[in-house]
Amino acid sequence: MNIGIAGVGLVGRVLALNLLREGHTLTLFDEDTAYGDKAAGMTAAGMLAVFAELESAESVIFDHGNRSIALWPDLLEQVGIADAYQQEGSIITAHPQDYNELDHFIETLKFKVPEASEIKLLDRSELIQLEPDLEQHAKAFFIPQEGQVDAQRFMKASSDYLLAHPDVKWHQKIKVSEVSEGKICFAGLCETYDWVFDARGLGANDQVENLRGVRGEVFWLDAPEVNITRPTRMLHPRYKIYIVPRPNNRYVIGATEIESEDKSPMSVRSSLELLSAVYSMHSGFAEARIVNMLTNCRPTLKDNLPKIEHGTKMTRINGLYRHGYLLAPAVVEQALNKGIYK
Ligand SMILES: Cc1cc2nc3c(=O)[nH]c(=O)nc-3n(C[C@H](O)[C@H](O)[C@H](O)COP(=O)(O)OP(=O)(O)OC[C@H]3O[C@@H](n4cnc5c(N)ncnc54)[C@H](O)[C@@H]3O)c2cc1C
Repeated sequence: MNIGIAGVGLVGRVLALNLLREGHTLTLFDEDTAYGDKAAGMTAAGMLAVFAELESAESVIFDHGNRSIALWPDLLEQVGIADAYQQEGSIITAHPQDYNELDHFIETLKFKVPEASEIKLLDRSELIQLEPDLEQHAKAFFIPQEGQVDAQRFMKASSDYLLAHPDVKWHQKIKVSEVSEGKICFAGLCETYDWVFDARGLGANDQVENLRGVRGEVFWLDAPEVNITRPTRMLHPRYKIYIVPRPNNRYVIGATEIESEDKSPMSVRSSLELLSAVYSMHSGFAEARIVNMLTNCRPTLKDNLPKIEHGTKMTRINGLYRHGYLLAPAVVEQALNKGIYK
């Protein structure tokens, strides 16, 4: 089939990779360039936190999350970066005065899915064996199933792959005004396709009801004095931070969560909170270099869950909120299996 996709962010790319495997011909539209940074998928830390995200999410994300974890390796292989996937588990810790936060967190997860009772409580010596740099923390939990995708590498490699593919035409810097019934409209023109997908994230808010943005801010730090190898969260009564390691002692530190569609640069308050928290977690961050400060908005629906909507010759996928990497492969698989586009 001749298929049009509006929005080549995270969902648009995962869709495109799946549809190419099925032998379709694709036309992609994005208001950004192929290597631009407007997509939330470019800002994301890429954590596959199938348990930890349950603290503030419905348990349905657990099944989708586990399915996505199974699907990511093939997608990354398809774009030539199998090594951008890591599933070595993650660490959840807190300062001693906040241990009640830690206990409450684990109890919440157990309440949501029985599998959470397998999450392992580590004492200091077990923690040091896994992550010697976290030695100052006497108590932590280890979630072996969790991992991460290097989000920025995925975005770059998928751009390279799609741009080079003979069955893909990519219209860059084209703002789509409408997606409906086999049509993608832009600049007063409409093109028709056998099927169209609307994957514009927050950009679809004129056609998707109750879609809102949830602002998130992250730092990238280069910290040669820190050697943490797994995604690590620190719980705190006022803010929760995560540290996601990337190659060469680079760390993504995030993320704020603010009910706002403001994509302007990071606020002083957010930077103070994120940096103080990360420094309190490991003093080696004192001499880290700030290499990037990013802000974006997560496309979110009322129930904070993803939504697939099929119409005549059209499918919309939206609402991946803070779980795009965790959920997109499974949500796309579900959309394509159930879709009548075949
Ligand atoms: C700070 C932050 C950290 C995050 N960390 C994680 C994480 O660790 N793990 C995780 O699972 N998820 C994470 N996420 C969430 C994840 O990034 C999103 O859920 C995901 O990117 C949503 O995918 P999407 O394709 O719907 O939207 P996007 O990735 O935003 O893509 C939408 C695309 O549509 C294009 N577009 C918009 N409007 C138009 C238009 N009118 N015409 C043409 N093109 C248009 C945009 O340019 C963009 O390329 C994070 C998000 C943020 C902001």
